[in-house]
Amino acid sequence: MKAAVYKEKGVLAVEEMPSPSPHEGELLVRVTYCGICGTDLHNYSCGIPAPGSVLGHEWCGVVAELGDGVRGFHVGDRVMYHPYGGPGAVAAGEASSRNLRLNPRAIYSAPARRGAYADYITTAASRVARIPDGVSDKAAACLEPLVAAIHAVRLGNLKVSDTVAFIGAGPIALFMIQRVKQAGARAVYVSEISPARAAKATELGADRVFNPLKQDIVEEIVGLTGGRGPDIVYECAAAKGTLDQACRLVAVDGRVTCLAVYQETITLDPLDWYMMQPEIKFTTNRASTPFDWEIAAEALSKRTIDVETVITNIIALDEMQDTFQALLNPATNTMLRVLVKP
Ligand SMILES: [Zn+2]
Repeated sequence: MKAAVYKEKGVLAVEEMPSPSPHEGELLVRVTYCGICGTDLHNYSCGIPAPGSVLGHEWCGVVAELGDGVRGFHVGDRVMYHPYGGPGAVAAGEASSRNLRLNPRAIYSAPARRGAYADYITTAASRVARIPDGVSDKAAACLEPLVAAIHAVRLGNLKVSDTVAFIGAGPIALFMIQRVKQAGARAVYVSEISPARAAKATELGADRVFNPLKQDIVEEIVGLTGGRGPDIVYECAAAKGTLDQACRLVAVDGRVTCLAVYQETITLDPLDWYMMQPEIKFTTNRASTPFDWEIAAEALSKRTIDVETVITNIIALDEMQDTFQALLNPATNTMLRVLVKP
């Protein structure tokens, strides 16, 4: 089979490799689509994976072979990655009990890592779910980032009539904007440098979208909120000054929820805090819970969040190198969510 293999920092190459065989309890799946995740870009551009790894975790496909002992699936079933969706999964609604200190560099560097930027992937049958009839393959390949969006919206502790700001409107934020509107936000403001992302944010319901290279977003958004600042700021940009900007923008008793994955040390400038005396509640974004997966899968089935509207490009494995490079500079192209079709 063909796979896009991570060779070294900033280099992917399409190579032939043997198709994997399913072990006991596993499925062999022919990959239909695998979405390009921001964490893949991060790992690729920072040189984190072990050379020889195959990345890609936002996938769906068709069952090609059953390992010994697998029940509940048949060859030809459409399936999506859903670690709590298969037989033997955690009971729906049960909170995640993980409280481990993990070393992400060790996880992403695991030499045996075989993801879905490939014709085939093997997976434990307990980590996939059958794709419901009304859900397209393209939508099913968006389940994992939709889970991240659902989780982050809930972390922000949104209340009806809260005002919300997003710093950065990548694909996950574009899913979140839809949910935040449904949840009863009074207004949604967005700061985004990419014209394509800005246009999509407006289309999906953002009340105002600002270009932080041309406008002072703190002044603009604080002005629009009668001097208060938004109740919640979702920091989704990971630029050098955006966390500091989130803290200057948010209401004095507001919440900053940080989804951003930083690639370098950033600074916070708390000089104003002495005079402003804010009581900002700050949260980073941890792993998702089984409940987030349940809600995201339901949103796909009921189509309450339009994930397909954010998909702009379907590419082949041999287009991945150029596409990864382009996605690292989102303001210079019109791509939003990109799916790989091996
Ligand atoms: Zn992802």
